Amino acid sequence: MTAQVIDGKALAEELRQGFKARVDALAACGHKPGLVVILVGEDPASQVYVRNKVNGCLAIGMHSEKIVYDVAVDPETVLEKIAELNADPAIHGILVQLPLPGHFNEEAVLEAISPEKDVDGFHAENVGALAQGSPRFIPCTPYGVMKMFEKGKVDLAGKEAVVIGRSNIVGKPMALLLINAGATVTVCHSKTKDLKFHTSRADIVVAAVGKPRFVTADMVKPGAVVIDVGINRLPDGKLCGDVDFAGCLAVAGQITPVPGGVGPMTITMLLANTIEAAERKAAAAAGAGK
Ligand code: NDP
Repeated sequence: MTAQVIDGKALAEELRQGFKARVDALAACGHKPGLVVILVGEDPASQVYVRNKVNGCLAIGMHSEKIVYDVAVDPETVLEKIAELNADPAIHGILVQLPLPGHFNEEAVLEAISPEKDVDGFHAENVGALAQGSPRFIPCTPYGVMKMFEKGKVDLAGKEAVVIGRSNIVGKPMALLLINAGATVTVCHSKTKDLKFHTSRADIVVAAVGKPRFVTADMVKPGAVVIDVGINRLPDGKLCGDVDFAGCLAVAGQITPVPGGVGPMTITMLLANTIEAAERKAAAAAGAGK
């Protein structure tokens, strides 16, 4: 068997094309979607992510800007800027690029963002809404994975799903989304006793571990859907995922590649969340007769 490859790059492009009309319609009624990305420090990987996020917005006609602070900035300065952006009607999404330097209380910064503008979906109020099954913003990476399931026509109801990883940004929200979609979900992590026992009986495996080629063909049930969230930089500079793609391709039913899989979907869903925020704002303004 050779697995069907779910092409995240193509899907991301298809979705972004569709976003353009929504952005134009919003701009026409004075609600052009606007995203601000805050970066503290000069971490090279974060700089690339921030640039891609801002450019992704600009490419479809949205407003976007980055605000960069020196690594030693007083956290109070960043909190003041967030308060200012919370009150700015032209800004619908605020994102603080993680990780923050050690002298920051990351949680306090995330909580300072208005839940209505928290397009990353990391504010406790939005995490709670997702857990209750009525999300306001879905964290971008797992949101992208759900779109890939949709594209691959993967029916999640009643399926056994295993999520490897329990981070707040990927593993946990992924598990919640799968539960909400009717899957029976097992979350594995570094303390899991027998990982292969769990993965080899799963219809769906989502790997978000951060270890190159960690999921091997012998861990995968024939015909399973294998989603690779991992982005790992190899010593030769190449990117690879958490899944041994070549090996698993021969066993899985559907699989996502790295690069060109979940990665391009993450920024796409950030654009989606910002547009959704602007649409809510426009609908509220129309309702108020403004
Ligand atoms: P974290 O490091 O926060 O989480 C990794 C998870 O993997 C933890 O829950 C950890 O368990 C678990 N883990 C580590 N070792 C093992 C093991 N031997 N067996 C089972 N589980 C293990 O990473 P993130 O969730 O932030 O990211 C995961 C990967 O996804 C990374 O490669 C990251 O670069 C990538 N990523 C990709 C994105 C994209 O856009 N495609 C976006 C975000 C992340 P424990 O909790 O016990 O420590």
